[in-house]
Amino acid sequence: MTDRDTRHKKAMQKRKEVVDAKVAEAQEERGITIVITGNGKGKTTSAWGTVARSLGYGYKVAVTQFIKGTWDCGERDVFAQDQNLTVHVMGTGFTWETQDRELDTRACREAWDKTLPHLKDPDIHLVVLDEITYMMKYGYLSVDEVLEALRNRPVNQSVILTGRGANKDIQAYADTVSEVKDTKHAFNDGIKARKGIDW
Ligand code: ATP
Ligand code: MG
Repeated sequence: MTDRDTRHKKAMQKRKEVVDAKVAEAQEERGITIVITGNGKGKTTSAWGTVARSLGYGYKVAVTQFIKGTWDCGERDVFAQDQNLTVHVMGTGFTWETQDRELDTRACREAWDKTLPHLKDPDIHLVVLDEITYMMKYGYLSVDEVLEALRNRPVNQSVILTGRGANKDIQAYADTVSEVKDTKHAFNDGIKARKGIDW
């Protein structure tokens, strides 16, 4: 064994002790709230990745897509045959395209009303609220009513909220918050969004 091998073995042993201790420490068993925010690419795809995980184990999943209504997206269609998945699409397109606050508020309300029963259903393992941060930012949905629904949901249910600029109270409530950093993005170099990659 070289010196480097020996050092590596020692470091890994130490690492294992730390990880094992952390695993032993985690005793609580319950659903979690995950926020995926920030300006970089990867928020919605991350949420769908977790949807795939849940469906893979035969769990029930409910997804509500706020905003992205009129856009195609491949991931939604790939799971469409799965009886365990329910998807609601708000359906008004991007708000800077509709430019109609009243219409957006109504559409958001409808989507939220369809989502609420899922947030009360203990049979649903995972609820995804895609792009919901904008609903709170524009005031279509109050932070308090979202927090109330999250607090009162079944104990084993997990929820993922995505979108830029997640509200600080939502972040404070969440168990896991990931901020995707926009180190660089092809779009800023004039490269068009790609089918099967960006939607
Ligand atoms: P994705 O759906 O690819 O995971 P996202 O959910 O993190 O992206 P959104 O803000 O919802 O990001 O972006 C919607 C669209 O804009 C997607 O097509 C995405 O690829 C693209 N996009 C994401 N981040 C950026 C960025 N920093 N600059 C330009 N376009 C972006
Ligand atoms: Mg997104």
